[in-house]
Amino acid sequence: MGSLRPCTLVDQEALLAWLLDAVRRLDGVRVLTGRPVVAPLLSDGRVVGVELDDGTELQGELVVACDGRASLLRRKAGLELTQLGKPMTVHWFRLLTAAAEPVADWLKGQFVTILGGGDSLALYASVYGGVQLGWVQDPSAPVPSSSADWRERWAQASPERLASLLRACPLQAIQGPVRLPVQVGRLEHWWQPGLLLLGDAAHPMSPVRAQGINMALRDALLAARQLLPALGQGNTAGLDRALAAISAARLIEIRRIQASQTRELARADLLRHNGWLRQVLAASAGWSGPLLAQRWQADQAVLRQGCGTVELTLPPDAMMG
Ligand SMILES: Cc1cc2nc3c(=O)[nH]c(=O)nc-3n(C[C@H](O)[C@H](O)[C@H](O)COP(=O)(O)OP(=O)(O)OC[C@H]3O[C@@H](n4cnc5c(N)ncnc54)[C@H](O)[C@@H]3O)c2cc1C
Repeated sequence: MGSLRPCTLVDQEALLAWLLDAVRRLDGVRVLTGRPVVAPLLSDGRVVGVELDDGTELQGELVVACDGRASLLRRKAGLELTQLGKPMTVHWFRLLTAAAEPVADWLKGQFVTILGGGDSLALYASVYGGVQLGWVQDPSAPVPSSSADWRERWAQASPERLASLLRACPLQAIQGPVRLPVQVGRLEHWWQPGLLLLGDAAHPMSPVRAQGINMALRDALLAARQLLPALGQGNTAGLDRALAAISAARLIEIRRIQASQTRELARADLLRHNGWLRQVLAASAGWSGPLLAQRWQADQAVLRQGCGTVELTLPPDAMMG
């Protein structure tokens, strides 16, 4: 893909467990899990904490909402997302290890996308072993009702060799589907007095080129740097200025990444819905393929490297307080 660094698949659960473990070891940190926030606490138009589902109230100088694409705190704050593109649904499957081996061999370590007939299919070797398979379609489109029907649907969309490998995959080796609705969007302001939204809560990301976690981590890094000098000063105006600065600084990259993802999706849509275009490209692949690949790879740079750098290190004593 022309990247400066190899693309690395990371086990999300392991990453989260590792981060949580690191956080637990910091002084002054209390971690509560399985205790959802049900409402912000307000005082004089300022968010001053949160209420948990058991009625516990947690007070704080600042609430950082990282509660994902359906963010409750975003909704409670009355912040409206600008919706980007049309919604789609991804149905995720996993083909379990031994049975999926022939499909994994066919993939040769590549991420493969198959476009056609209005839907699309993506496959890659899973970090958990076996093969991860995503079926993308319009939310209103009918879905197969059994694993056998799903398997046949994938096979019909696939080239001959892959189709026969998929048909040979035993039904009991198919795990799923997990249905994930995808709605992409962003807030133009990520904050209110005493409240900052980060990650998908501020900008639900498309799965295209798998940038959602990168963007959420980059938000957190920049926020940490800006917030450290502003917290604990008893200066709410100064804190709010830091929140506005974080939102403005991160929006620049988020806008560019989401625009690149939208372009990529538009190309996929064009190919998906135009059989004649797929035929022309397939027929001319010998000479047009390398040219298109070069052009496409150049376009991928921003989706692979991000826009610019975010400082990775915090000031030396930053994590002690
Ligand atoms: C189909 C699909 C595939 C994707 N694939 C990739 C990929 O391969 N790589 C990638 O980088 N990105 C991918 N993304 C995007 C990625 O999932 C998100 O951008 C990323 O997870 C955002 O991280 P986050 O921490 O902001 O939100 P999330 O990961 O959604 O975390 C939000 C957390 O908040 C918790 N929460 C929610 N409400 C409350 C509440 N009221 N109280 C307390 N806690 C709450 C949730 O339980 C959750 O733990 C994909 C997205 C989709 C839809």
